[in-house]
Amino acid sequence: MNQWPSWLPLRQNLQELSPYGAPQLPAEAVMNTNENPYPPSAELAKAIADRISDVALTLNRYPDRDAVVLRTKLADFINGLSKTRFTSSNVWAANGSNEIIQSLFMAFGGGAALGFTPSYSMHPLIAKVTQVQWLNGNRREDFTLDIDSAIEQIQRDKPTLTFITTPNNPTGSAVTIEEIEKIAKSTSGLLIVDEAYAEFSDEISAVTLIEKYPHVVVIRTMSKAFAFAGVRLGYLIADPAVIDAMFLVRLPYHLSALTQAAAEVALDFKGELLGTVAQLRVDRDRVAAQLSEMGLTVIPSASNFLLFTGFDMPSAQLWQAMLDRGVLIRDVGLLGYLRVTIGNEAENTKFISTLSVCLGEK
Ligand SMILES: *Cc1c(COP(=O)(O)O)cnc(C)c1O
Repeated sequence: MNQWPSWLPLRQNLQELSPYGAPQLPAEAVMNTNENPYPPSAELAKAIADRISDVALTLNRYPDRDAVVLRTKLADFINGLSKTRFTSSNVWAANGSNEIIQSLFMAFGGGAALGFTPSYSMHPLIAKVTQVQWLNGNRREDFTLDIDSAIEQIQRDKPTLTFITTPNNPTGSAVTIEEIEKIAKSTSGLLIVDEAYAEFSDEISAVTLIEKYPHVVVIRTMSKAFAFAGVRLGYLIADPAVIDAMFLVRLPYHLSALTQAAAEVALDFKGELLGTVAQLRVDRDRVAAQLSEMGLTVIPSASNFLLFTGFDMPSAQLWQAMLDRGVLIRDVGLLGYLRVTIGNEAENTKFISTLSVCLGEK
């Protein structure tokens, strides 16, 4: 733990924390943060650059504080995917869905927040930073979510925010829309469905529940399937009352004109950017089969990563052995497990062959 100097008046609740720190290390195969491995085409890069150079001529002015054009485009994008009828009044956009999560805690963290672990580590970390009480809910031994037990936990603890991540990170498993509806029907507070990996899954999006259950809030991001992590653009879809509350806690002009412009252009290229999703799903299933053939156990995944176990050395040791050979994967802090993001063909091949070597050498 960091020893903070005594003159530094750091808030008590922060002193025990460590910063979010997925290692950013040079490696031949970077497969640790669930990014899409395929870069934008030259055509898209040029379209972004052209648009940015126009916007650059107006950078003496603040950007559109309400990002109306972008939020309208995001609403249209979701309507196209889910056959919904949202407008900009149902959409909030921010610098990555992490900022969305932070805003939700700031606006609605008057009570406790509940999530079902293991899940996305930033939910409890942002709760801590925003001084919201965090409750660790339970999953089954195999990491799937027991819906009746989840409902019991919500009804018992009465959190103002409940997080369901589906497909779940770091396990990859998804819950069905029927299961989410069952939870929504019998609980109050906000039900936050973090759908960072939704595009990789066959399940129907929880955005389709919002009209009937206005306390359902769906978080999406351009960072994963959409292959646009570098821009930092996350968004939420919700009832307009939720969006109105976001206006209270956002910092003025929080989304730069450059971010808004790049994201707007990207949405015009959605066919290209989402074009790799089918490929990644096929590759995910192939890598999962290869891991099984090696005698490892893989959690069934509806996302672009795999959580696997069944190796008989400590996770940290195997992680390091892989890194020493140029393959950066993720130690998510689950004893006996490691997580790998699906890469391009060369990266996947390198991952499997390197893993064989590391397991053979132990
Ligand atoms: C990656 C991830 C996010 C964060 O994405 P950004 O939009 O890049 O901030 C949110 N939720 C989950 C579950 C994730 O895995």
